[in-house]
Amino acid sequence: MGKYDVLKAKGVSRRDFMKLMAVTTAALGLPAAIAPQAAKAVGEALAKPPVIWLSGMECTGCTTSTISTINPSAAELILDTLSIRYHEVIMAGTGETAEQAYAETLAEGNFILVVEGSTPPNEEKDDYCIVAGKPFRKTLLEAAEKAEAIIAVGSCACDGAGIPGASDITQAVGVRELLKANGIATPVINLPCCPVKSQTVIGTIVYYLTFKQVPELDSQGRPLVYYGGLLHDNCPRRGRFEAGQFLEDWNDPEQKDYCLLLKGCKGPKTYTDCASVWFNDNANFCLNAGSPCSGCSEAGFYSKFNPLYEKNDDFHVPGVVGQISPDLIGAGVGAVAAGYLAFSTAGNVARGRIGKKSKEHGGDE
Ligand code: SF4
Ligand code: SF4
Repeated sequence: MGKYDVLKAKGVSRRDFMKLMAVTTAALGLPAAIAPQAAKAVGEALAKPPVIWLSGMECTGCTTSTISTINPSAAELILDTLSIRYHEVIMAGTGETAEQAYAETLAEGNFILVVEGSTPPNEEKDDYCIVAGKPFRKTLLEAAEKAEAIIAVGSCACDGAGIPGASDITQAVGVRELLKANGIATPVINLPCCPVKSQTVIGTIVYYLTFKQVPELDSQGRPLVYYGGLLHDNCPRRGRFEAGQFLEDWNDPEQKDYCLLLKGCKGPKTYTDCASVWFNDNANFCLNAGSPCSGCSEAGFYSKFNPLYEKNDDFHVPGVVGQISPDLIGAGVGAVAAGYLAFSTAGNVARGRIGKKSKEHGGDE
């Protein structure tokens, strides 16, 4: 497929494309003579391995998060970095043109398949997700069979336990589980979080395009480079935890930056880079915005970590004897927290998280 065929499949004519390049280069303050050069560069980018982005049972939050990036801009992301050929939300083509783009990319093969959202597990539940008159489950299996690499974005796609799968009604499953049940062995790179961060999606795809291999993954299929560290170890409120200062009253200004463990924070069991790489082009993340971590990068979110904003009685902080409760506050809980710190540090050294990377954690200790 030539570059202008690709543009046509995206719903963009050659004339429109040249006009777009002229406007874009002018907006950048470049001379008009640069436009053909820019068109050539974008055309070459379009010839890169294409991406099919399928959306199953989801809220489109992961797409919104991914295109919220400023550097690269959404346009660069779509037209240059990723060369997304099919994406129901952001592609210019609609209806039959969109479906044609999907069919042509599928026929070509050698594409990267990105999946957002969970899927019904079998034919019996297919009615819960029909796209373009076809069960999403079947489309996913059809695309997965031909994909060069498969990336599941967001908690729903990773293990099916996100919001659409939070009750038993849909019996939603993640991509890995569906493919395994259907004998498809292509490895799935899981990029959980609710939603996924743009940096994680772009970085993973660029890594794959550059090295033509899957990055090192942990037992949940997550790249260690993004999910190798415990949130609790890098949390900006960690000093408060160690000092035994736990927020009890949201309305007390003195407690505003206290540790949120008693308010349901799941940071001590959550592997993610959220403390250092923030959402919306590094604007912010949960703990900085005053919200406890809900554990959305872990398998089993949301059901497993419910309730989100109060301490779950089954939630034990590793290494802390008994549970941290309001009764413990003021009764030497700082010593308990310090005990956790010693345990955590020793555990991290023993498991190689400090000093070298480990791929053994599953985040559920
Ligand atoms: S429990 Fe939560 S708020 Fe407290 S230090 Fe750990 S990650 Fe931060
Ligand atoms: S801080 Fe926790 S709840 Fe917030 S996005 Fe990161 S893993 Fe999810």
